[in-house]
Amino acid sequence: MAKIQMTTPLVEMDGDEMTRILWKMIKDELLEPFIDLKTEYYDLGLEYRNETDDQVTIDSAEATKKYGVAVKCATITPNAARMTEYNLKEMWKSPNGTIRAALDGTVFRAPIQVKGIEPCVKNWEKPITLARHAYGDVYKNTEFKVPGAGKAELVFTGEDGTEIRQTIHEFDGSGVIQGIHNTDESIESFARACFNYALDIKQDLWFATKDTISKVYDHNFKDIFQDIFDKEYKDKFDAAGIEYFYTLIDDAVARVMKAEGGFIWACKNYDGDVMSDMVSSACGSLAMMTSVLVSPSGVYEYEAAHGTVQRHYYKHLEGEETSTNSVATIFAWTGALRKRGELDQIPELCDFADKLEKATLGTIESGKMTKDLASITSLKDVTVLNSEQFIKEIREVLEKGM
Ligand code: NAP
Ligand code: MG
Repeated sequence: MAKIQMTTPLVEMDGDEMTRILWKMIKDELLEPFIDLKTEYYDLGLEYRNETDDQVTIDSAEATKKYGVAVKCATITPNAARMTEYNLKEMWKSPNGTIRAALDGTVFRAPIQVKGIEPCVKNWEKPITLARHAYGDVYKNTEFKVPGAGKAELVFTGEDGTEIRQTIHEFDGSGVIQGIHNTDESIESFARACFNYALDIKQDLWFATKDTISKVYDHNFKDIFQDIFDKEYKDKFDAAGIEYFYTLIDDAVARVMKAEGGFIWACKNYDGDVMSDMVSSACGSLAMMTSVLVSPSGVYEYEAAHGTVQRHYYKHLEGEETSTNSVATIFAWTGALRKRGELDQIPELCDFADKLEKATLGTIESGKMTKDLASITSLKDVTVLNSEQFIKEIREVLEKGM
């Protein structure tokens, strides 16, 4: 059978540890035998990031802007222990943070649902995609302990010298204060990324904040979303038969628990952090969660939601067998290939992505899976496969389906 041809390269960002091992197996077994794979390769493995003073990360983000679609392997975010382990020149920043900042993107995460791995919320029949604003609020705060009695004020000094001043609290004794911010520009990007993504996957969009309590700060988010929706997206949503609706965060949480899924839930930074952990845990495993960064200009970067699975990598280095789940990494590739196929009008590429996803899920549904899933599945008589066997099994199913 002739290999599928591509026209534009995918930006390929290789990574670290166990996921780097899976990355190669996926390419060797599941992609290259079927596709004449065109990629522009960037090695974001920590060693090469260190060697290039992290320039490679910046270059990979620039390439993503140029070509429009990237696929990323999980990478190490250095901490003190990694400084020694890899003999680093500097504690390089999180590649995800660097890429996110360069693309000004919003992260969308959705569980990969499969028969046999049921969410604990039994009415969640379809995946819930979480859209998390990735800038500002408590993640870029200024905070300190108030040592004792006194007045805390919030002061803004404009470039022209005008001043806005409000009392936060008159303290009788010690306490704490915190200053947070966001920018209209970032909120607007977040809103557009959400509206575009909803149109892209043809699902309703929910957005919720605590605007009844935060009558200015959260209300600003609500107003910006509504304004952009009315001016730029209402007609497109009507045409696509989908809906945007705003509700209070408490109400959203209550509705989500009773919903059947199949929608996008947009959250402010903190809500998104917490709620995405809730949704993914309820769906079984981080290894069954996809993640895509979408920029307001329509650039996409696909990855798995989990990290480099360090513990498994050390076992692998000692020659021990591992049973690491490659599903989320496979789905990062299929997401990127499908998007490339859509943009370049190569239906065979989209079709291949569908078939590879189907083969992956079919393998699990037939009772063959990695250890993490075997421990939570409702299927009987399961076979636990090692990292490599699982990928080879998917290949067999895929070949039958081609
Ligand atoms: P992790 O790699 O997500 O793994 C945490 C644990 O979750 C694993 O030890 C494993 O549990 C389980 N797990 C995660 N993915 C799995 C998979 N595919 N198959 C089977 N089990 C899986 O998180 P971490 O150990 O906290 O972080 C390791 C490194 O990843 C860190 O250096 C961190 O900086 C980096 N990281 C990168 C990203 C990213 O690039 N997007 C995200 C998060 C973390 P058991 O050990 O119990 O089997
Ligand atoms: Mg979290």
